[in-house]
Amino acid sequence: MSIKQCSFCATVESEENPLIAGERVYICSNCVVSAYKILFGEEEPEATPTTSGTPTLYTPKEINALLDEYIIGQENAKKTLAVAVYNHYKRIFRETVSEDDTQIAKSNVLLIGPTGSGKTLLAQTIAKFLNVPIAIADATNLTEAGYVGEDVENILTKLLMEANGDPKLAEQGIVFIDEVDKVARMGENRSITRDVSGEGVQQALLKLIEGSVVNIPPKGGRKHPNQDFIQIDTSNILFICGGAFDGLNDILKRRLGSNTLGFGQSKRSKKEEQNLLHLVESEDLVSFGLIPELIGRLHIHATLGEITQEDMVRILVEPKNSLVKQYQKLFAIDTVSLKFEEDALLNIAQKAIERKTGARGLRSILEEILLDIMYELPELEGYEVIITQDVVCNQAKPLYIRDKQIA
Ligand code: ADP
Repeated sequence: MSIKQCSFCATVESEENPLIAGERVYICSNCVVSAYKILFGEEEPEATPTTSGTPTLYTPKEINALLDEYIIGQENAKKTLAVAVYNHYKRIFRETVSEDDTQIAKSNVLLIGPTGSGKTLLAQTIAKFLNVPIAIADATNLTEAGYVGEDVENILTKLLMEANGDPKLAEQGIVFIDEVDKVARMGENRSITRDVSGEGVQQALLKLIEGSVVNIPPKGGRKHPNQDFIQIDTSNILFICGGAFDGLNDILKRRLGSNTLGFGQSKRSKKEEQNLLHLVESEDLVSFGLIPELIGRLHIHATLGEITQEDMVRILVEPKNSLVKQYQKLFAIDTVSLKFEEDALLNIAQKAIERKTGARGLRSILEEILLDIMYELPELEGYEVIITQDVVCNQAKPLYIRDKQIA
């Protein structure tokens, strides 16, 4: 599906948001108005995360197509999230008052997948396209009120800051809480050493997630009687929690026994084990150590798989702002063209897999490989630099080509 987007703010074309087309560029009406104000001296528009006060409501297919441009693979997570996000904002902005008193409950999302598989990227990309503020927090830094650490409510202060201090915008935003598995209470077989009980943090998170009006200090920090509070209603905030949930597979295997694969089959392939995660049920998460009340509020589960070598290569080159494209742009500023041979990309992908940090490792690997070349970049004007497998594996020099001559 070809989607037209404003080249300035990324708003996607729809009936409510028609775009004006130029030569290979598009502009939406909001950006035309902003440009007018900037050029002709009217009061400069305030930079707010959303221009209309209402997030753009895309269909699940449109959301999925937008995610496809930035996230490689992870089809289950993209589809699940696309539907969840659509339902969430539809519930807020399109729910009509009807005779019956059915109330559509809020659905928050739990993303289960290894580190560096794209959980944060998914949440960030969705927020960017919907034009809503997003706050990203790490559950491991959170503590229940009264302990040393970050109060759970500080997440809302972050969200308010992202919404430029506008509580109404913040109340339509997204909160992404990573590493939520690390605040699991200790299960029978698991040993997590925390100075503060993870359960207390889960209880505090529950209060936010289930929807409540919270007084927050607008500038963060501890609550202080002399500070004016701002009230934030969390009922319409979309909470997305993420975690690797190491050990969840074992819990699933125990529950499912040999039923799923037939009697006598004791060894499952890695792929089959990943597929098991799709079968996760609330009871498995309780066994893992999440409190049932919290799981009850995170009832949409999406799983992300370990990134394969093939997908690593795609991540390097395909997404809109892929790492290779970013470095090529950086080189182009010095009029140097940068190319990677296919084998070089495969080896970079392999190195990332060995580091076990998912696709997150790719950037530092590229940085290491390109360091010496970037050191000399200003003197390489007019050259083409080709990264071969030897550069990646044996720290050899790249091929420098000038006027088709290897220098
Ligand atoms: P997680 O939250 O799952 O630990 P992140 O979303 O923070 O992982 O991923 C780290 C980085 O790795 C991202 O910023 C992105 O550059 C890259 N990345 C990870 N997964 C993907 C993916 N599926 N597609 C494209 N890029 C990815």
